[in-house]
Amino acid sequence: MQMFLTGKRALITGSTSGIGLAIARALAAEGAQVVLNGFGDADEIARLCDELGATHSGANLLKVDEIEAMMAEAGPVDILVNNAGMQHVAPVEEFPLDRWEMIIGLNLSAVFHTTRIAVPGMKEKGWGRIINTASAHSKTASPFKSAYCASKHGVDGFTKAVALELAQSGVTANCISPGYVWTPLVEGQIPDTMKARGMTEEQVKNEVLLAKQPTKRFVQVEEVGALAAFLCREEAGNVTGANWSIDGGWTAE
Ligand code: NAD
Repeated sequence: MQMFLTGKRALITGSTSGIGLAIARALAAEGAQVVLNGFGDADEIARLCDELGATHSGANLLKVDEIEAMMAEAGPVDILVNNAGMQHVAPVEEFPLDRWEMIIGLNLSAVFHTTRIAVPGMKEKGWGRIINTASAHSKTASPFKSAYCASKHGVDGFTKAVALELAQSGVTANCISPGYVWTPLVEGQIPDTMKARGMTEEQVKNEVLLAKQPTKRFVQVEEVGALAAFLCREEAGNVTGANWSIDGGWTAE
């Protein structure tokens, strides 16, 4: 059976774990030739490459020369998913300067660099998909997350500008904005929070982690992968400059 991404090459940044890996799996399942990026255990990354028939770049996206080398090695990509991201939580007046630079560098500037390099090849082919993993924090804010909110609001604006520039070229650019997603990182916070607050597991989930998520259900990484795959379909060719919430209703309030 012909899958709809057969013959397409997709680079997904930050795809050795979590949401990026789920997006890589969803695109590979539709026949895309996948390039993974991110850090992690070498054996586990080799296993993922086997599983997905993928290649891997260990480029550190905080370094422009490493981004340029990764893009050159990947060759012209049809689908670019900018997903790598990081968080740091601190009051603005105490926010560590190096954390600010890293968050803006990874969550925002790296998105600019991969995009500027990928766009000429997409324009030449008259087809392309740029998908940026933003966050509910690209639309709303929470205290102590100033760098993260600034970077994700920045990604939203950047994506819209790129979508307008490319509107007649066959290339779309969109954001996906998850709320709280069930990842090992989130799961790992539960025991400590139970202890610190004297709460049950259910209380931690509903009253702390899912306090802002009206469905009271974590987003599943597979749900994000499915949305990314939809944005790559031909039928999504007129979907551009959009910021897709997948946040259980968080930003509807
Ligand atoms: P994760 O920590 O599981 O994965 C992050 C990935 O980025 C990993 O593959 C890691 O190796 C890679 N990475 C980190 N620093 C890098 C660097 N300097 N260069 C290259 N790769 C690097 O994170 P996740 O939860 O899957 O988050 C993925 C994206 O989704 C991020 O942009 C995050 O802001 C966003 N997001 C996550 C949630 C959530 O609840 N988990 C919610 C909204 C948005």
